[in-house]
Amino acid sequence: MNRGRLLVFLLIVIAIPAVYLAVLVSLSTGTQLQVEPSPKVIGKQTPVRMTVTNPHGTRILRASLVQGSQSFGVYEETAPALRWSLLRGTEQPRTVTFDAGAAKAPGIRDGKAQLVVEAISNDVRSRTDRIVIDVEVNTQPPSVTPDDVMRYFTVGGSGLVVFTAGGYWTEAGVRVGKTSFRSYALPGGGANRRAAFFALPYDMAAEDVPVVYARNPAGAEATARIRHETKRKKFRHREIVVTDAFLEKIFGELDPGGSGAETVQRFRKINGKMRAENAATLIELGSRSAEKMLWKGAFLQLAGSSVEAQFCDYRTYKYRGEKVDEQVHLGFDLATTAHAPATASNDGLVIHAGPLGIYGNAVVIDHGMGLQSLYAHLSEIGVKTNDIVRKGQGIGRTGSTGLAGGDHLHFTILVGGVPVNPVEWWDAHWLQDRIDAQLLAK
Ligand SMILES: [Zn+2]
Repeated sequence: MNRGRLLVFLLIVIAIPAVYLAVLVSLSTGTQLQVEPSPKVIGKQTPVRMTVTNPHGTRILRASLVQGSQSFGVYEETAPALRWSLLRGTEQPRTVTFDAGAAKAPGIRDGKAQLVVEAISNDVRSRTDRIVIDVEVNTQPPSVTPDDVMRYFTVGGSGLVVFTAGGYWTEAGVRVGKTSFRSYALPGGGANRRAAFFALPYDMAAEDVPVVYARNPAGAEATARIRHETKRKKFRHREIVVTDAFLEKIFGELDPGGSGAETVQRFRKINGKMRAENAATLIELGSRSAEKMLWKGAFLQLAGSSVEAQFCDYRTYKYRGEKVDEQVHLGFDLATTAHAPATASNDGLVIHAGPLGIYGNAVVIDHGMGLQSLYAHLSEIGVKTNDIVRKGQGIGRTGSTGLAGGDHLHFTILVGGVPVNPVEWWDAHWLQDRIDAQLLAK
């Protein structure tokens, strides 16, 4: 072999594969594993969701529960090896869901353990990436024990149940009919001491008895009845006369594009459909309440105001002598002078400040633990979202924006986004007997 041929030979046998290998190695990457939400407790069944990011994909992805020197595989997937190929596509991040439940790890005991997730890249370096999550194995079924006190409720009002949850539970609260109200950590209580505020909906059926529940992702649920008495209150009936001037005002503001539709249909769209959409928004705001109690003592009623409409007035709407709609008024209409200062009914955090459909310019203050207050039809908003407010502090001025005929403040308290009668929350005695006696008892 002459020198030239030898050089070509060496190039083919050594240099080209070496360069190829170097390119492959340089293109090799690790895997990003993100478990969201990170499990704290592993029950019999526990779904775990994670995002796997590696442009080359993973050759092996596996999860195990580790306790002491024992390891229990709970999940494994493999893909054909693509180590030597340059012609691979770019894999998008993907979501993997698997069950990391103790049922898949026979022999594991209740107590501390670790969930270990491992990924091996599908490229030449086959890098292994690993995440370790400290968990508590708890295979006990959920249990729930309400504190043994007598509770008095009024339909349309609010209730509170303090209880102890046990076993493996991830969600606990009170259910009334089809509506669930989540619980929060009891102030000053231990890990499993919970407090749930709930609404007794004005239209609740006699069989909709409030029930305390605790459940876990495996579908196991414990429920318990509570000792209580529920009083029914008679609500008022009121007639609202809808005038053309009022319709012109609300159509211009709330349905500017709907001029082709028939007048009554247009009114019902605002009074019914928009009202329902706004109710859904309030539920969503309720779900974002602070985990702790931000309010102190009784709530304030707008100073010097007269009551124009009460909570749960059954309203019949008449237009040109005909009945055109029916709705229930879920708040108090409080009037003083035009553009009077509107004030925060208690300490809290502004969670909404802006237009809110039929409520016009509205402010919602979050008082924590699912409790919020609504201020509607404002002519001026003086706060913004995330502002901390104190009881009695100005938050804007009353007005008649939204579905309002004249200047007033529409006010209500919300529990889990459901409007409740604010009269109870204005009453220091009610608050002391029905709320503080349970919530603040040590
Ligand atoms: Zn009102």
